[in-house]
Amino acid sequence: MIKFLDLQAINHQYRHELLAACASVIDSGWYITGNALSRFEEEFAEYCGVRHCIGVANGLDALILTLRAWKELGLLSEGDEVIVPANTYIASVLAITENRLVPVFVEPDAHSLNLSPANVEAAITSRTRALLPVHLYGRLADMPELMAIAERHHLLVLEDSAQAHGASLDGRRAGSWGHASGFSFYPGKNLGALGDAGAITTNDDKLAETLRALRNYGSHEKYKNLYKGVNSRLDEIQAAMLSVKLRYLDRQTAHRRQIAQTYLTEVDNPLIQLPAWENEEQHVWHLFVVRSQRRQALQEYLQKAGVQTLVHYPIPPHKQESYRDYSELSLPLTEAIHEEVLSLPMGPSLTLDEVRVVVKALNSFK
Ligand SMILES: *Cc1c(COP(=O)(O)O)cnc(C)c1O
Repeated sequence: MIKFLDLQAINHQYRHELLAACASVIDSGWYITGNALSRFEEEFAEYCGVRHCIGVANGLDALILTLRAWKELGLLSEGDEVIVPANTYIASVLAITENRLVPVFVEPDAHSLNLSPANVEAAITSRTRALLPVHLYGRLADMPELMAIAERHHLLVLEDSAQAHGASLDGRRAGSWGHASGFSFYPGKNLGALGDAGAITTNDDKLAETLRALRNYGSHEKYKNLYKGVNSRLDEIQAAMLSVKLRYLDRQTAHRRQIAQTYLTEVDNPLIQLPAWENEEQHVWHLFVVRSQRRQALQEYLQKAGVQTLVHYPIPPHKQESYRDYSELSLPLTEAIHEEVLSLPMGPSLTLDEVRVVVKALNSFK
């Protein structure tokens, strides 16, 4: 069976370095907010090309806490509208509603499947305060256009970069375009920890300071609490794992691009629609997502041929039970996407020979 993603094989490649990094944390005697975290924060800020990186417990917290910090700073208040692509992963929406802000779902761009600048512009009201573009599947959203809209309408921009570590446009990476950006280092993400972890990147000093307090009980100074904060810290062991894996991220991305190129040039079947792709740097191929009107049959066919696939995602947020208040919204493109998408095997340990087996199976599907 060709696995969708083989985490064991991926991490096995760095086993010695990971063990050594782990041992150095064990021996340090310091396990929360210590040198390993500060080091990773500096390295990842530099990687993204921003002044600050603030490690937190996971990607959802990165998004929740950024919106929360903007509320504490008086830039957002309850009931404000945040525009989000309707076809995103549920976490982007949870971050909005957790803060008692109002998600405004807009249809994505039909070509890129990312937030559509035209649809954003049409959705702006007097209550709109922020945009939450998601670099879905690893493809950087149209940030130049979205930032121009945000500037015209005085909106905050929070990038959801959970799937796009290292994706760039005009030499600027995901995480450096918006006023802030949330990253996830969930094990299956392009930069994955060996447990849960996340971070926020920003160039805003005041926001960074607020986030450092919020993640640690709302405290800048031990036993003094400025905010009603939370406990959401990236621990030393995970920070040390991430410093090791960050060194290999670009090499892994290059391999993902090679796999994507193979699929793009060799898959040839009118029943299968390939993803849009323009610019090499813009896409880090967290997922390679094809579309088919016969998705279920295709998935079963591939399974029989020994190829594991997944669906990202089967149900859009506005059709989830938890968001039943939004179930009447008419979002036909989003709904079609969720019915048609299928994610092919993709990852740094997948070999090109395996990719060719997948291609062959795809091309023989009738
Ligand atoms: C994974 C993911 C998140 C959440 O990250 P966690 O670390 O799992 O909390 C948020 N948004 C998107 C688009 C994601 O893919």
